[in-house]
Amino acid sequence: MRILVANLGSTSFKYRLFSLEGERADLLARGGHERVTDYGAAIDQSLADLATAGHVRSAADLDGVGFKTVLGGELSGCLLADEKVEQALRATADLAPAHNPPYAEGLRIFRERHPAVPRVALFETAFYQWVPDHARRYAVPESWFQAGIRRYGFHGASHKFVAERSAELLGRADVAAVARRLYLDGPRPVRGASLRIISCHLGGSSSVTGIRDGVAIGTSMGLSPQSGLPQSNRVGDLDSAALPCAMRRLGLTLEQAEKQLTKEGGLLALSGKSNDLRDIRAAAVAGDARAQLAIDTFVHSIRHWIGAFWLELGGCDALVFTAGIGENNPWLREAVCAGLSGLGLQLNLSANAVEPPETDLAAADSTTRVLVIPANEELVVAREAARLLAARRAP
Ligand code: ADP
Repeated sequence: MRILVANLGSTSFKYRLFSLEGERADLLARGGHERVTDYGAAIDQSLADLATAGHVRSAADLDGVGFKTVLGGELSGCLLADEKVEQALRATADLAPAHNPPYAEGLRIFRERHPAVPRVALFETAFYQWVPDHARRYAVPESWFQAGIRRYGFHGASHKFVAERSAELLGRADVAAVARRLYLDGPRPVRGASLRIISCHLGGSSSVTGIRDGVAIGTSMGLSPQSGLPQSNRVGDLDSAALPCAMRRLGLTLEQAEKQLTKEGGLLALSGKSNDLRDIRAAAVAGDARAQLAIDTFVHSIRHWIGAFWLELGGCDALVFTAGIGENNPWLREAVCAGLSGLGLQLNLSANAVEPPETDLAAADSTTRVLVIPANEELVVAREAARLLAARRAP
């Protein structure tokens, strides 16, 4: 099956083309365009490039196009992306203004130009469909809940990949199989002991998710991607009284305050330097106190959420780090894992510093394993799209 995965940013269109046979997935091509003002032209050009390279003669040769859609309100999961999905993306664009409009537009363009090619939406919220109600609810009036004010959770593709891959690496094929088919079959009981994973996706945006037997039990992100840990330039969790208070005290309009929280908050605001942890770390090492405070606040928040899921899961068999920050910064992993020997987690400091990804970084006598798993969200989208399309074709 040939699946094109479309990655739409507010000013970019990128793609990866996968060939999938059974469990095997090969990346055939990748490419795209930056500083896009016309998504239609960028999509046409990308398809022309794939035809010239001989990968797909025309869009008609594609089995499907997968989209890592972010938030569709009550619409979630892995779905054929019809016009209802486009409408849901537009209707919730206020909560994901950087993500939803380009995806709605990309879906519309593919629908109008290549109506025969199935489009599949894998929502970032999909992994949280089975989170219990008590972990979804905010203590708001019922009318707010009815209006969709609740925890949705994000980074679902990344955390689902961690659920599958960590189970494989830990020798739990039974759990990996449940995780792999989760969006088709839903949660399934496993035979052995429960596998408890805490997954830390730390990157341009970050979240921590608790996973039992391949299924998320809760996550740090809530209603919008502005929640949970301090993000690179987005605020993370904030007392609801802070917004009206700041507006009154600083004389801000709602638009100004929203802009400051969604574009000028997070690690950028704390450090006063950069939204990139590499710059912040360099400044902190050189003695900059605000940069160090940004790092300490970030680590504190990661540990806060790890603690929450550790308790909720009744322990942790593996702590997993993924995405740009989690994969590339041994010093940060060391800070997150510091002082946890009382809980049974002991990092092997030398392995943490040098070992390649997917190696166990825990000390031999640690009762919690520590893994780095490289993020591969496009692969997840391609696999889920292929699974959905294959299930539809099956008799
Ligand atoms: P995005 O969420 O935009 O896909 P990433 O997952 O790549 O981004 O995460 C970006 C963050 O990861 C940045 O804060 C950056 O500091 C960090 N990062 C990425 N690559 C490296 C690296 N090689 N070394 C250290 N930090 C890195």
